[in-house]
Amino acid sequence: MPRVLILAGTTEATVLAGRLDAMGHEVVSSLAGVTSRPVDRPGRVRSGGFGGAHGLARFLDAEQIGAVVDATHPFAAVMPFNVSTAARRVGLPHCRLLRPPWTPADGDRWVEVPTLEAAARALRQMDAERAFLAVGRQSIGAFAACHDVAFVVRAIEPIGDALPGAETVLQRGPFDVDRELELLTGRRIDVVVTKNSGGTATAAKLAAARRLDIPVVMVDRPSQPDVATVETVAAAVDWLEGARRAGWTTCGHVTRRGV
Ligand code: NAP
Repeated sequence: MPRVLILAGTTEATVLAGRLDAMGHEVVSSLAGVTSRPVDRPGRVRSGGFGGAHGLARFLDAEQIGAVVDATHPFAAVMPFNVSTAARRVGLPHCRLLRPPWTPADGDRWVEVPTLEAAARALRQMDAERAFLAVGRQSIGAFAACHDVAFVVRAIEPIGDALPGAETVLQRGPFDVDRELELLTGRRIDVVVTKNSGGTATAAKLAAARRLDIPVVMVDRPSQPDVATVETVAAAVDWLEGARRAGWTTCGHVTRRGV
């Protein structure tokens, strides 16, 4: 079975590594190296950047990779473009595994914004007093100018001095609605700020905000390259099987969603 490179950093990447390993694929998972205790997964794991698309292309060639699945986070803005460029350069089949975004339900009070900076501006305009910031440790710096807002930040690891004065809640998902209700009420939160990551693991905060009638500042996703895209792990496995049957020739530019 050819070797598959998974660009990781999501739950789907971990699950996919397990599925492919069980099917007999040789799997290499690549992590950016931003989390000090990443989740265990089967197969080989490497960590750290490749040095842009050029470095990634060299890696694909040197490691004799047969196919690439880009399962980085929906807010990874650079890697999907690097993967697309590198895989095309080397002539490898590659696809983007991208879970669908959340959409508002009845009763939701979303303020949709295009960027983190716009989210910070929205917070100031809303006269928010106590915001729950669930945007990831590396994105909280964008809120440093919101001096009148008290922040409760959820992160997997300590945030250092990225947002002075913020209260930190160290937690790794998945989260359930009861726990989120407790967090929002216990800390007297009047607005939730989140990226539109999609998926089930962190969606409970949206249900909790809806139940408490709290507004949610929802940051839209960055743009994605025009490549074969699937929404689920099962669809990524199917895509790989299709690529294998086709002799692992380049399968880009075919968009297949969901399964
Ligand atoms: P990014 O902007 O797309 O990537 C920045 C640089 O980090 C890339 O150019 C690449 O360096 C390196 N990199 C990113 N993902 C990598 C991977 N899987 N393996 C090796 N190198 C990688 O991504 P980001 O927003 O900084 O996110 C970094 C990682 O955290 C990603 O793996 C992503 O899945 C995960 N993550 C991100 C978010 C988020 O909100 N952004 C949330 C949860 C998890 P080189 O150019 O040197 O190769």
